[in-house]
Amino acid sequence: MKTLIKNGVLVNADKNTKADLLTDGEKIHQIAPSIPDNAADRVLDATGMLLFPGGIDAHTHMDMPFGGTTSSDDFETGTRAAAFGGTTTIIDFAIQGKGTKMRDALDTWWKKAEGRAVIDYGFHMIVTDLGEAGLEDMDDMVDEGVASFKLFMAYPGVLMVDDATIFKAMSQTAKNGALICMHAENGGVIDVIVQRALAEGKKATIYHALTRPATLEAEAVNRAIALSEMAQAPVYIVHLSSEDALNKVREARDRGVPAFAETCPQYLLLSIEELERPDFEGAKYVFTPPLRPKHHLPKLWDGLVHDHLQVVSTDHCPFCFEDQKVLGKDDFTKIPNGGPGVENRLQLIHHHGVNSGKLTINRFVELVSTTPARLFGLYPRKGVLAEGSDADIVIWDPKAQHRISKHTHHMRVDYSMFEGWDVTGNVRTVLSRGDIVVDTKEGKAEFSGNPGRGSYLKRAARGGAWK
Ligand SMILES: [Zn+2]
Repeated sequence: MKTLIKNGVLVNADKNTKADLLTDGEKIHQIAPSIPDNAADRVLDATGMLLFPGGIDAHTHMDMPFGGTTSSDDFETGTRAAAFGGTTTIIDFAIQGKGTKMRDALDTWWKKAEGRAVIDYGFHMIVTDLGEAGLEDMDDMVDEGVASFKLFMAYPGVLMVDDATIFKAMSQTAKNGALICMHAENGGVIDVIVQRALAEGKKATIYHALTRPATLEAEAVNRAIALSEMAQAPVYIVHLSSEDALNKVREARDRGVPAFAETCPQYLLLSIEELERPDFEGAKYVFTPPLRPKHHLPKLWDGLVHDHLQVVSTDHCPFCFEDQKVLGKDDFTKIPNGGPGVENRLQLIHHHGVNSGKLTINRFVELVSTTPARLFGLYPRKGVLAEGSDADIVIWDPKAQHRISKHTHHMRVDYSMFEGWDVTGNVRTVLSRGDIVVDTKEGKAEFSGNPGRGSYLKRAARGGAWK
């Protein structure tokens, strides 16, 4: 199948090009000022539209066990929702069980995704246990295309690893070229503060945020960067949420250290007050790190503008309010940590970043697609509109009006963190490796992909973090 997309403006991280684009099979075959209609099997008119490389969400948790329950989107519903929002690649997380091989975890997560995913997917490996065999395990994973590992400095007793383990893992990536992704919060100290709060009867939802102060995020970011410098390996801080933590990344980058960080729409657009909503609704905003006081928000936007932050991902990890969040009704520590977001990332960052004049359209594409592709070993197959790249293409209507709501979204979750928010700019058509998976007809987006059509992506080590 050859698809010709005519009269659109192609937006890449470096420039805009008014051109026609022809796909052939799964690839972008030709980009030229004018391509005749008879070169293609079907023609899409993109007059007035922008074309982006498909969005890459480098941080999602589909079908993930947490605190006795499981995130409510599986790989079918979650990737379908992603496609509706213009995301054509996700990188999810497999979790190594303590005392088990990483390969077992990879097998488990392959099974979760296979036959379900509607767009392409890769995996990071969450390392929970690193015996001597673990280091070889890491090389084994890199051979399988798992070119990044996530380590936790939080959640003691569950996911947290100590500094020695972090240092060993980083030293291994210095050799095998994988990228360490760090959940940076000082989990040990947070635990002490949490236990004190509980002992004082402070069990309301707001204490989730008050017991995890930004100082402890900044401390962990600082430590992660110091360890990575010692190991001579780059490091990538996931879901950075505060000015304090951002300052640590900026200082390191100013010294030329290869430290990278992502933030998420919720940290750019929402603040701690959300957790004080009545009737336990604050639980809809319980995730880790927590939302911060308002003054952090403009600092994070600044970080995106000045490349102190390089990526916007979602940390999509939905739990339904009615039957999952409620587990923590009487005790904030029992609220499943996570929120939905995979569908709304492009809408929110386009509206609040580009429309407001904070970000250029090129920087927007860089943040949501190009840089995640580079850092995580997918570039130039993904993350760019270029001849020879995968035909993952978003035809974007910059003037389309959309109201974000649980009534309009496709994520399998009974609330939206952005309920009733209006955005200008939305997906019109989405192609994933040449197939139209979402198309808008008479103002309504319709899905036309199939479960199982998404492919596992073997990612290359020594991505953009190593240059
Ligand atoms: Zn996460």
